[in-house]
Amino acid sequence: MQGLTQAKENLDQKGFLDLEVDPMLDLVAAIEQLKREKNAIILAHYYQESEIQDIADYIGDSLGLAQKAATTDADIIVFAGVHFMAETAKMLNPSKKVLLPDLKAGCSLADSCPAPVFKKFKEKYPDHVVVSYINCTAALKTMTDICCTSTNAQHIIDSIPEDQPIIFAPDKNLGAYLQKTTGREMVLWNGSCMVHEIFSKEKIVKLQVQHPKAKLIAHPECEAHLLEISDHVGSTSSLLKYTKESEFDEFIVATEPGIIHQMEKASPNKTFYPAPPTNTCACNECPHMKLNTMEKLYLCMKHELPEVTLEQDIIDQGRGCIDRMLEISAKAGL
Ligand code: SF4
Repeated sequence: MQGLTQAKENLDQKGFLDLEVDPMLDLVAAIEQLKREKNAIILAHYYQESEIQDIADYIGDSLGLAQKAATTDADIIVFAGVHFMAETAKMLNPSKKVLLPDLKAGCSLADSCPAPVFKKFKEKYPDHVVVSYINCTAALKTMTDICCTSTNAQHIIDSIPEDQPIIFAPDKNLGAYLQKTTGREMVLWNGSCMVHEIFSKEKIVKLQVQHPKAKLIAHPECEAHLLEISDHVGSTSSLLKYTKESEFDEFIVATEPGIIHQMEKASPNKTFYPAPPTNTCACNECPHMKLNTMEKLYLCMKHELPEVTLEQDIIDQGRGCIDRMLEISAKAGL
């Protein structure tokens, strides 16, 4: 087995500290102890493994996580999510240490909009403001006027004067959905999420036939043909709220199935079916989100590595679009 020095040397290549963890170690107790010793907070996205969600100090979607990251007084923020989320936390807390259990936990949607290519694209529309979904790199945020999440996107678009043209990046499905709900024409970047794009409408319709009482609920990153047949469309928080408050007892869930853990906890007597993708799998997990494990979480808190860092000029240029989003969300009571 390699030692800590070797594991640190291999960090860039591996993305995490590749150290053996004693299989007898009580990981929950060890992580709780590290949280107390280091004044660390664990922020976890709804798409994380259920055991990570259960040990987190805060579980939420992108808006909730950004809001929590903006107000925490912890010394260390441990982000159980993907890279762009940890970058956002770092932008909001430049003086704090931000840890990510696996640096390779990326995002196909963020990757679908490389900043240098977007820069050239943007030059073609000099009069447009840029609204970017928060699922984008720090470099893209430096070219963005206002960020948004699926929770606040409509409010963000509505806050922009009607005669002001808009570029929306990087998710074409969310962009198309917003065009419909706001009535605004926007120039859309052609990006998408590998998880939400591959739900099979045909298999979902079959599932609806098997479970005729089930309501179909979907995230707006899904394709339009799926959103059109959904009973409710919304962010992960909105889907969770809908299942809690709904009089119905069965739901087909068209987003990453990690959220079902919170749905089952909130409504133990209700039944949730993960929407099937076009491939042979029964559900549709995000391979990036699922790179984080309890072992990696423990190791990263113990050794305070891997750390997410950003150049100061990226923070200076990229933070404004997140602040604007948080201001508009606060005014809207979100
Ligand atoms: S579910 Fe999609 S948008 Fe979310 S992290 Fe995974 S690839 Fe990115």
